[in-house]
Amino acid sequence: MSRSDYNNVVLGAGLAGLSTAYHLGPDTPVFEAAQRAGGECVTDAVGGYAFDRSGHLLHLRTPEVKALIQKLLPNAFQPVARDARIHIGSAEVRYPFQANTFGLPPAVKAKCLWDYLAAVTTPGRKPPKNFSQWARQSFGREISRLFFEPYNQKLWTVPPSDLTLEWMGPYVPKPDLPTVFRGAFGDQPGGGGYNASFNYPKQGGIEVLPQALAAQLTQLHLNAPAVKLNLRQRRVRIQGQGEVTWKHLISSVPLPALAAMLDQAPKKVTEAAQKLNSNSVLVINLGVARAKIHPAHWLYFPEKEYTFYRVGFPSNFGQVAPEGCSSLYAEVALPAGTGWGQRKAYARKVCADLVRAGILQAGDTVQVEHMQYLPYAYVIFDADYTRARQEILTYLEKHGVQCIGRWGHWEYSAMEDAILAGMKVAEAVK
Ligand SMILES: Cc1cc2nc3c(=O)[nH]c(=O)nc-3n(C[C@H](O)[C@H](O)[C@H](O)COP(=O)(O)OP(=O)(O)OC[C@H]3O[C@@H](n4cnc5c(N)ncnc54)[C@H](O)[C@@H]3O)c2cc1C
Repeated sequence: MSRSDYNNVVLGAGLAGLSTAYHLGPDTPVFEAAQRAGGECVTDAVGGYAFDRSGHLLHLRTPEVKALIQKLLPNAFQPVARDARIHIGSAEVRYPFQANTFGLPPAVKAKCLWDYLAAVTTPGRKPPKNFSQWARQSFGREISRLFFEPYNQKLWTVPPSDLTLEWMGPYVPKPDLPTVFRGAFGDQPGGGGYNASFNYPKQGGIEVLPQALAAQLTQLHLNAPAVKLNLRQRRVRIQGQGEVTWKHLISSVPLPALAAMLDQAPKKVTEAAQKLNSNSVLVINLGVARAKIHPAHWLYFPEKEYTFYRVGFPSNFGQVAPEGCSSLYAEVALPAGTGWGQRKAYARKVCADLVRAGILQAGDTVQVEHMQYLPYAYVIFDADYTRARQEILTYLEKHGVQCIGRWGHWEYSAMEDAILAGMKVAEAVK
């Protein structure tokens, strides 16, 4: 078997792996299982439409990532002010729900506000133990019942009472009392939260970003999955390429998959790997021969009777559909590894639900239907999460393996974080 020796080796050519190699030096070897670079940040071109793997909108908060993107893709992105809404009953209210009950029927709104006031003025409460308790304590019973409970159950595929609070960070806005009241009595365009505006390519889909990084690299090996990892000898076997040795291995391979590659891992590591939990997402993309089928950028669907938890309209923020046509994606969250076999049945149900929601009309021509599957979509922050993840990461780190990225580091994070993680690990290794 052939053998190549390197100082630094990167596994996975999603944004995290690409950024790592870019910052370590363009001749750093990157081994990627798929036929193309980009990981989950790729765009499929089908019948004149460009479909990302559901919404992939770039939020930029750090000067270093902003500068990098401006250097690689000068003026390629445009800022967009978010228009996100929640479909509830026959109403559509602005996101975030808790600060925008304005559009709800008066009796429902009154109950939301009453329960909200009761929740935030109750003295001496015990700290919440799970997400469900947190939502009720923060926003009251009615807002939880209408939005937080059903939406999060759908998204995570587990009861919100099984979720810890570790994942929330910027992802769940907590407006103050005046904002909640202002949003109950008047329309508040602009909303709040971490994604009040976002960036999207002026031309084409989000794949321009990983492609710009990949173009800088000279040792990007595609169709080259890592299959076996020997930590004592610091060797990784790459299918079709033989053995590779390393001093530093930087992996963005999903953590459960990396753990499964370990040669003679201790029992506590293999047991910890079994406890890592995530969901999968099936994305059903449609190209529709009608302009502007909906005015929003995306809609959340908390209600059980809709299959999807979110529907987005990329043709409202990017040049991704033919003139006079619209594109949409519907996201269906499923227990890990399930759903792809039933994709046609899901697609039929999604189309029926889109008609029921008033998004598709009876006479619409669906020109293109394109499905995608994200096997590890959302890492589930349950009671086992912290300890199990730490057990594996500590063991790997002790043997010179740095894990990065949303699924490599087993976290809830976004594209900017993946790029940043690559920058930081490169600095540390150097
Ligand atoms: C439904 C959904 C919507 C999202 N929307 C947004 C959004 O709007 N904005 C945003 O900023 N972020 C969004 N994200 C997050 C974003 O997709 C990730 O943060 C980012 O793509 C993570 O990049 P990564 O490099 O860590 O992982 P990945 O992109 O998964 O890259 C890992 C790479 O490793 C490769 N690999 C796997 N196994 C092996 C192996 N054995 N050997 C070699 N290579 C291997 C994979 O093929 C892949 O290319 C979303 C995520 C999901 C699930």
